[in-house]
Amino acid sequence: MKNKATNPSKISDELTMLMEDLRRDNRQVLEKHLVELVSAYRVGREASSFLEMEKCIGILGDRIADLLSVQIVSIMLMDREKGELVIKLAKGLEDKIVKEAKVKIGENVAGWIVKTGEPLLIDDITKDQRFQQCGGKYNTNSLLSVPLKIRNKVIGVINVNNKISKEVFRTDDLVILRTIADMAAIAIENARLQEETKAIDKMKSDFIANISHDLRAPLSVISEAVRNVLDGLAGTLTEKQCKFLTLAKQNVERLAHLIDELLELSRLESQKTTMKRRLFDVVDLARTTLSSLQPLAHKKKLLTIDALPAENIKVWGDPGKLSQVFTNLIDNAIKYNKQDGSIRVAFEDSGRMIKITITDTGPGIAPQYYEKIFDRFRRIESESDRNITGMGLGLAIAREIARIHGGDITVDSSLGEGSTFTVTLPKDLRKG
Ligand code: ADP
Repeated sequence: MKNKATNPSKISDELTMLMEDLRRDNRQVLEKHLVELVSAYRVGREASSFLEMEKCIGILGDRIADLLSVQIVSIMLMDREKGELVIKLAKGLEDKIVKEAKVKIGENVAGWIVKTGEPLLIDDITKDQRFQQCGGKYNTNSLLSVPLKIRNKVIGVINVNNKISKEVFRTDDLVILRTIADMAAIAIENARLQEETKAIDKMKSDFIANISHDLRAPLSVISEAVRNVLDGLAGTLTEKQCKFLTLAKQNVERLAHLIDELLELSRLESQKTTMKRRLFDVVDLARTTLSSLQPLAHKKKLLTIDALPAENIKVWGDPGKLSQVFTNLIDNAIKYNKQDGSIRVAFEDSGRMIKITITDTGPGIAPQYYEKIFDRFRRIESESDRNITGMGLGLAIAREIARIHGGDITVDSSLGEGSTFTVTLPKDLRKG
């Protein structure tokens, strides 16, 4: 605020000017606060966009250091099992301090924050009875420390030390750091949940891959033995023995097929499948697949419409794998179709991409299932009521293959009328 000379005759004018100055100064202060708070909010929002813990915490450290003009930012998170704080980021701290940094609840400043759930702004830590042993490591003895809270539970602590200006921290700094911490806690918790989900998913995939692998070998032996007995290698069979063994053979084959699908999916997901890519005619592949499944369609008296173009459309990819995509989709179009219905396979050129559509006249799929049906083992409940067998793996495998090729599979449907599955592939799959 500027100093003004007082003039008794114009006292009211002076007062007005003074008020204006005050308003302007206050406004400047308010504007500054607002800008800082908006920046703090932006930091939190930016951190939320990173779902990898390391990146999320790294970006928080960088932005906090910039916004508060500090040299040291550390972020500690609670290890729930051990009940201690573990340092996750130590911007501006020596490696030695970082390695030692595990803090029990109640110990040091960070432990105190966890215990009380309250923030701390200390002008001179050497003069604070509670934490005297903590001082002396930095340029200044002023520090700021705030809790990271989720639903009132402290999940970690953000500490800042050493203002570049060598000033002590002010309440404004505390407000900014608390604003960041409120949003950072959510971002960190999201990243933690994401990492946990990924780890569980990996465990699940590894388990499925291992168990499938272990089941496959003995199943081959059973299958071979049953086939030998059926072929009469162990003597002539009665009609009843033959009937039971044929039933056993069919079910062993079903089981083997399921295990093969599981193995294929886990190989695809862990990118262990080797793709045998070459330039091939995708239209021919779709057409051949459709005719190979013609006998199945015939059994249901389905009309198959080949609306594919006459000319070749060359793409670069693994024809064996893409044939599996078309097989799974056309097989479903037959399996879920109504008696005397139809299946139409068509092609669309949409610039950089090609589209192969498979349309059926089945029961249709409700929009809430459009994504879910591509999950492993996911089936729409009514299908099991209709006695249509399946394990819910075909679409998951098909989509995975399409995605490895840089494409995708989507579905559009009208309940009671039918569904259209669209396989999108880049024209030159080498770019996929
Ligand atoms: P599966 O057919 O072995 O159950 P999929 O992964 O191929 O496994 O399909 C998942 C689910 O999606 C099926 O159980 C079925 O409920 C639904 N579905 C797939 N294709 C169609 C279709 N053409 N029409 C209606 N429902 C379908």
